[in-house]
Amino acid sequence: MKLTVLGNNGPYPSAGGACSGYLIQHGGKNILLDCGNGVLSNLQKVIRFEELDAIIITHLHSDHMSDMMVLRYAIQAKMKRGAMNHRIDVYASPEPQEEFKRLDINDAFNLKAITDDMVLNIGDITVTFSPMTHPFKSFAVCVSSGGKKFVFSGDTSWNKNIIEFSGGADVVMLDAGLLSADKKDDNVPHLTARECGIVAKESGAKKLILTHFFPEYDVEQLIAEARENFGNVTASELMKSYEI
Ligand SMILES: [Zn+2]
Ligand SMILES: [Zn+2]
Repeated sequence: MKLTVLGNNGPYPSAGGACSGYLIQHGGKNILLDCGNGVLSNLQKVIRFEELDAIIITHLHSDHMSDMMVLRYAIQAKMKRGAMNHRIDVYASPEPQEEFKRLDINDAFNLKAITDDMVLNIGDITVTFSPMTHPFKSFAVCVSSGGKKFVFSGDTSWNKNIIEFSGGADVVMLDAGLLSADKKDDNVPHLTARECGIVAKESGAKKLILTHFFPEYDVEQLIAEARENFGNVTASELMKSYEI
């Protein structure tokens, strides 16, 4: 499987950056995980959007879904011109309801709500979900195929379920939205980089990719924190591809 980072900032992009978006490609299938602002532009540097087989929105904060609102125009315009004749399958967290309803655009998306026990089979790729801890209902996503396993946390604060869910993963990509110094109490929406290292270590993952970078942070500092617990760590790089 190939992972390409189309956006790795949150909750807003750095200059020239983009918010959450990751393309998974394997066996001729293309799956987009999250579609934050800037992602549609970057996606088209890699594939045409009509080549997407599925879009998965891990939760409904705008930094993870805002480009869906312009992707709808893109699909509708192409359909009108006869250049596209299918809707794109979209799997999204169902809450909050008013945000979910904004995605229910019948002539562009075939929308389904993610459930805890949902299993998607897309070509020979299997996708499963695990509920996480965040102000909006959010899911971690496991993408596996051919004995390879990739786990993306989505946005979450500390939740020990991510450890079991990531068990033995070839790559875990985790929300490193906080430096430990900025975690004043447990009431925070993101993992710290140190916690990311702990998750990677305790899950027996082979490699850790940090992501969801607050634009004000020095990424090297995040890496150093994660490395206290886990050696094989890197920071996601915009437009870079990773073999899983
Ligand atoms: Zn976010
Ligand atoms: Zn969020």
